[in-house]
Amino acid sequence: MDPLQTHITYLKGVGPNRAQLLQSALGIKTYQDLLHFFPHRYVDRSQFYKINALPNNSVEVQVTGTLIDWELIPQKRGKRLVAYLEDDTGTLELVWFRGHKWVAQQFKRGAAYVVFGRLNWFNRKASMPHPELELLETFQQGPKIVLKGIYPSTEELVNKGVSQKVIGKMLRNLLDTVGDAFKETLSPQLLSNLGLISRSDALREVHLPTSQNALAKALHRLKFEEFFFIQLQLLKKKLHHKQKFKGFVFDTVGTTFNNFYKNSLPFPLTGAQKRVIKEIRRDMGTGMQMNRLLQGDVGAGKTIVALMTILIAIDNGFQACLMAPTEILAQQHYQALKELLASTSLEVGLLTGSVKKRERQPLLEALQSGELHLLIGTHALLEDAVVFHNLGVAIIDEQHRFGVAQRAKLWKKNTRPPHVLVMTATPIPRTLAMSVYGDLDSSVIDELPPGRKPVKTVHRFDNNRLKVFQFLREEIKKGRQVYIVYPLIQESAKMDYKDLMDGYESIARDFPQPNYQISIVHGQMRPEDKALEMERFVQGKTQIMVATTVIEVGVNIPNASVMVIESAERFGLSQLHQLRGRVGRGNDQSYCILMSGAKLSEEAKTRLHTMVRTNDGFEIAEVDLKLRGPGDLMGTQQSGVLQLKIADLVKDQKLLQLARSWAQQLLKEDPDFQQPDNAPIRNAYAALGGYKNIWNYIS
Ligand code: ADP
Ligand code: MG
Repeated sequence: MDPLQTHITYLKGVGPNRAQLLQSALGIKTYQDLLHFFPHRYVDRSQFYKINALPNNSVEVQVTGTLIDWELIPQKRGKRLVAYLEDDTGTLELVWFRGHKWVAQQFKRGAAYVVFGRLNWFNRKASMPHPELELLETFQQGPKIVLKGIYPSTEELVNKGVSQKVIGKMLRNLLDTVGDAFKETLSPQLLSNLGLISRSDALREVHLPTSQNALAKALHRLKFEEFFFIQLQLLKKKLHHKQKFKGFVFDTVGTTFNNFYKNSLPFPLTGAQKRVIKEIRRDMGTGMQMNRLLQGDVGAGKTIVALMTILIAIDNGFQACLMAPTEILAQQHYQALKELLASTSLEVGLLTGSVKKRERQPLLEALQSGELHLLIGTHALLEDAVVFHNLGVAIIDEQHRFGVAQRAKLWKKNTRPPHVLVMTATPIPRTLAMSVYGDLDSSVIDELPPGRKPVKTVHRFDNNRLKVFQFLREEIKKGRQVYIVYPLIQESAKMDYKDLMDGYESIARDFPQPNYQISIVHGQMRPEDKALEMERFVQGKTQIMVATTVIEVGVNIPNASVMVIESAERFGLSQLHQLRGRVGRGNDQSYCILMSGAKLSEEAKTRLHTMVRTNDGFEIAEVDLKLRGPGDLMGTQQSGVLQLKIADLVKDQKLLQLARSWAQQLLKEDPDFQQPDNAPIRNAYAALGGYKNIWNYIS
């Protein structure tokens, strides 16, 4: 057996209780798990501070001094143990709130100690709660530690005695126990081409660094390895896919497509749109199953590409479906596509959660008989009751990556998986495209329709509201329409609704009837009321739309030329960009006005400045990723968060690209890792369980 698969309970200093704790708190079961439990940062332990020169914040520091005395001091509840450490510049209080007896037993009055811990400042006086304490003598005899890894931990672990020190000791024991049992996972060529250190050295260094430089090399090697195997899995999955699944072959360019292209296209397609449609057509015509990601900035014109894709399927005797993340968006797609298809005889249906049973039944029957050509809807499409006659292509318009289970459900809507086109609502950063969506082929619409005037974006503080309102009046006078959007954050929903309603009332005062008509749309309204209000705005019966972010995605009203975003500091960048994308769709100059309070965090400032500075969604996506990190960026549920152990999608972008290109190269030369030199890769890959487990990384 691989010694690294040994259960952690057998490690010196662990035992059954601790093993259980390690497993429940950190998911560590085996030697290998512990080895792959990496420090999340390092502190410099070659540096000692003088007590009168401690850094004025709560960082970890190391101090040496003499333990002169200690006492138990009563406090509100129980007592605290305070020990006094003195050097030639001052005295530092060391504090324990628990374990007094045990701690005090170890004290040697008058002895020199090295203490290590996080500073706590109160009334300009520093203390150090629960420090690590070691006799200077022991410290000097022990291993010389330059950099000390700090591991992710929990309160429970600390309370139950698994301190940083204990974790460090466990790892040292482990490294001593297993020696060089780490198998190399990369080929000699990769190691030498990329100048990587061995896995064995890297694992030792990452836990017990001997120098800054050696640590950097270790991190580099381990991060590369992590990215490399994820990429191998994603790319293998893609390869396997192409080999295994025969896609329906759509080789006819039929009359519907041609007629539509000749007679009904509402505008000439941009070069980018044409190119992408060609890519899609090629995919669907060659006998493989299409799995393609379609990216394009807000307003780049993804809908028409979706429609052309649908027509190809229909011309080849298949049905199509289009799934949207929200009810409003599904409705919009339905209306837009119905209108575009008005001159054809195609049957289009809409299925959402709010479609009544009475209407649902005939719809489902028409779908099953094949009478219906195209079904548009929300998640409701995934329900078992939704049975297609012959689904040929599924298009997913998504905000976040849909869950695997959901995609699998779509696949099962036909005997063979349909072609799948995934459209993202806003651009996603390159690194995410390469990782979270790395198993898909990718198309990018990198050109906006001609004649678009870039939206002018400004940032205004709340006390300028009257001027902003005056500007709105002028725009409305010109015949334009205006959105005013309020935040709606789940945790503060109650307050947010109040803000929305207060705002609505004040707007109604400033824009009185009969000169002005106002629509309001928010999530607590019944769907039919929402639809009615939307409709009034679409038809131009109202000039102002007051709404929460329900209108965020996809809504398309070319005459609306002003987007006012209230409390803009509370929105995320991609949300702001999405919202701004609701205007600038017609021929008029459009505006986006970001309203905010006077007090702004640094991050909020960066967001607002970025919005004012650029309209480029790809650029904004990169800034967003830097600000928030990949986890938050993709949302929480159904997202596609890469659970990376050591690499970082923001900081290690270059390395990810490198890993992907080497993985591609390898799969081209030796797709099954059969060459003797690639044996380490073959074994490591097999140990991961192959590409099927890639979704373990992507929750
Ligand atoms: P998104 O990519 O954000 O989904 P849409 O498909 O909703 O964008 O298109 C945005 C707007 O641009 C729509 O009003 C659409 O009719 C228009 N549009 C799309 N493609 C073109 C084009 N090639 N020329 C002119 N207008 C276009
Ligand atoms: Mg869209």
